[in-house]
Amino acid sequence: EIIRHDVTFPLYVEVDEIYNLACPASPVHYQHDPVQTTKTSVHGAINMLGLAKRLNAKIFQASTSEVYGDPEVHPQPESYWGKVNSIGIRSCYDEGKRCAETLFFDYYRQHNLKIKVARIFNTYGPRMHPNDGRVISNFIVQALMGNDITVYGDGSQTRSFCYVDDLIEGIITFMDSEDSFVGPLNFGNPQELSIIKIAHEIIKLTSSKSKIVHKELPEDDPTQRQPDISLAKKKLNWTPDVELKQGLTKTIGYFENLFDI
Ligand code: UDP
Ligand code: UDP
Repeated sequence: EIIRHDVTFPLYVEVDEIYNLACPASPVHYQHDPVQTTKTSVHGAINMLGLAKRLNAKIFQASTSEVYGDPEVHPQPESYWGKVNSIGIRSCYDEGKRCAETLFFDYYRQHNLKIKVARIFNTYGPRMHPNDGRVISNFIVQALMGNDITVYGDGSQTRSFCYVDDLIEGIITFMDSEDSFVGPLNFGNPQELSIIKIAHEIIKLTSSKSKIVHKELPEDDPTQRQPDISLAKKKLNWTPDVELKQGLTKTIGYFENLFDI
């Protein structure tokens, strides 16, 4: 049964399990209405935890690699506390998600709730919105349309990209694992690349004639990011399978189909 609901308002329904993925994840979208972004993570977590408590239902939280901020530890293990600005333009997302983790662990300790907290690193794949604003979909859409590829800064900042199917499999395996294993747990693909390399790779795979242009690097843009996934390997025997080239090819195919190219 599908219902449209804003998680910042209470929700009284009957369910077996809860997956809380509410909140835009693209910087462009979460910075559009930053107050609402914090409310979505914080009020949303309170309402979903209240729902889980009333029903004694297991509850999953989609947390984020953004809890590590601009990390000084590389790659990032779950034990790293992060380096996060509390008053910058990314803070509504980062601190909202951090506070949500706090709420999850307090409901766990105080009310014995069955929680599962995953920290999701950069993810991409088919069915992203063409105007999502995140780097992979932006570059693919720009390359297919023959528009300039917009690299922010010099493109030396790095990210590690996980194909969506790998992530979903990880989340479901985590949810089905023993209740005593609550996380937080990193999910991501450890293959790390600079943004400029991603731009060249996408130009190559689309045989595009697009040019690379450099735009201003947004404030607080993390310089490097790579998940340490040894805990997911050890506890769930989970590792991502889909190579970047394979995942990009499928994603490009999706957008070609969408634009009828
Ligand atoms: N809540 C909800 N659905 C429920 C149960 C609770 O939306 O089925 C909301 C409720 O509005 C409350 C929040 O979840 O504000 C937290 O619930 P909890 O029971 O932890 O707190 P309390 O109601 O005691 O303040
Ligand atoms: N980026 C870019 N061009 C774009 C969109 C993003 O160079 O059109 C860069 C952005 O500055 C960041 C990286 O790509 O360094 C990843 O950005 P994204 O918004 O996908 O996610 P983030 O990991 O920053 O939340």
